Amino acid sequence: LVERMRPFTSTIFTEISRLAVETGAINLGQGFPDTDGPDSLLADAASNITGHGLNQYAPGPGVPALRDAVAAHQRRFYGLDVDPADVVVTFGATEAIASTLLGLCETGDEVVTFEPFYDSYAASIALSGATRRTVPLRGRDFVYDPAELRAAFSERTKVVLVNTPHNPTGTVFSREQLVEIGTLAAEFDAVVVTDEVYEHMTFDGTPHVPMATLPGMAERTLTISSAGKTFSVTGWKVGWVHGPSELVAAARAVKQFLTFHGGTPLQPAVANALALDDAFFAGISSELARKRDLLSDGLRAAGLDVYTPRGTYFVVADASPLGVDDGVALAWKLPELCGVAAVPVSVFCSSDEGVAATRPLVRFAFCKRDEVLSEAADRLAGLR
Ligand code: PMP
Ligand code: GLN
Repeated sequence: LVERMRPFTSTIFTEISRLAVETGAINLGQGFPDTDGPDSLLADAASNITGHGLNQYAPGPGVPALRDAVAAHQRRFYGLDVDPADVVVTFGATEAIASTLLGLCETGDEVVTFEPFYDSYAASIALSGATRRTVPLRGRDFVYDPAELRAAFSERTKVVLVNTPHNPTGTVFSREQLVEIGTLAAEFDAVVVTDEVYEHMTFDGTPHVPMATLPGMAERTLTISSAGKTFSVTGWKVGWVHGPSELVAAARAVKQFLTFHGGTPLQPAVANALALDDAFFAGISSELARKRDLLSDGLRAAGLDVYTPRGTYFVVADASPLGVDDGVALAWKLPELCGVAAVPVSVFCSSDEGVAATRPLVRFAFCKRDEVLSEAADRLAGLR
């Protein structure tokens, strides 16, 4: 294995899901829903496979209906003017992130991102040869310090990689924060890559602000999202990236030699789902807000200190009140202790300070049926 990939031989999701299966624990570690939906999406995909024979290669950049639908979705929800020709369909957001970084960065370049960070960021940055510069998110609300943000930028900064709503913390970047990040990107002539896979999952009236909607930002922003979260089909791996032609061309050039394309029968089904009515999209957040509260109550009753998330389907809890200061050790023991699996937060950090600050924290996914969350809460009560 090449040196730059040596730190990335396994992922926490692989490890904890394996442990959950082995122990029969309720898996609140890896984030995936336990119901598939919506029905129309599933039926469309099935009929595309068996009824319409959409089982061969599609155009490399994606099925036209889906590229049109992504553009229409961006206009409908955010007023963005996206040319379908500037949308590239990818094998999940993961491939969009990798293609984008590989297409834009090379050795000597720097990528600014926030810590904790979604695990694939570090691996994709490393693959590209670029260097990661992280800005810590601190405190119960996981906010960055503006001075530390500025200090992370240099003339070598090629990309700023933003994730809002943010995994694993559940924080949602405010308009003011995004303007500040975007202003620095412009000052240092960097591209903003924004991972918005949880765009339809925000709570308590918190708005999701896409970076590309901010003044002057569309021209330097590549926006990434995915059907996996919005439509509860994480196994389909249908994602996309859009942005200005020259930037999206960089991602497309790489993507075509990673997979060329994927999921022919799934893509038109996702296109139809992106046009579902407003009630469907509003229902995602309202359902999840209720589930967040259900699990959070259980975590509190179990004695953990809950950091209430404003978005995503993850909740971070501090295990210190239980006398536990090591979230990694706790995550490995939790299935045996009480039959629930979770992931430690510190594994999403690389700096010594970030690892230390997040050491007692664990992340639980609440994208599960109510009865599963209630059962998990009952089991967690055994921790006390
Ligand atoms: N980005 C973030 C922040 C995620 O949480 C995930 C999903 N786990 C992804 C990207 C990957 O999305 P996909 O499954 O569509 O590749
Ligand atoms: N995004 C999911 C999570 O954060 C897992 C994705 C994966 O398994 N790679 O839990």
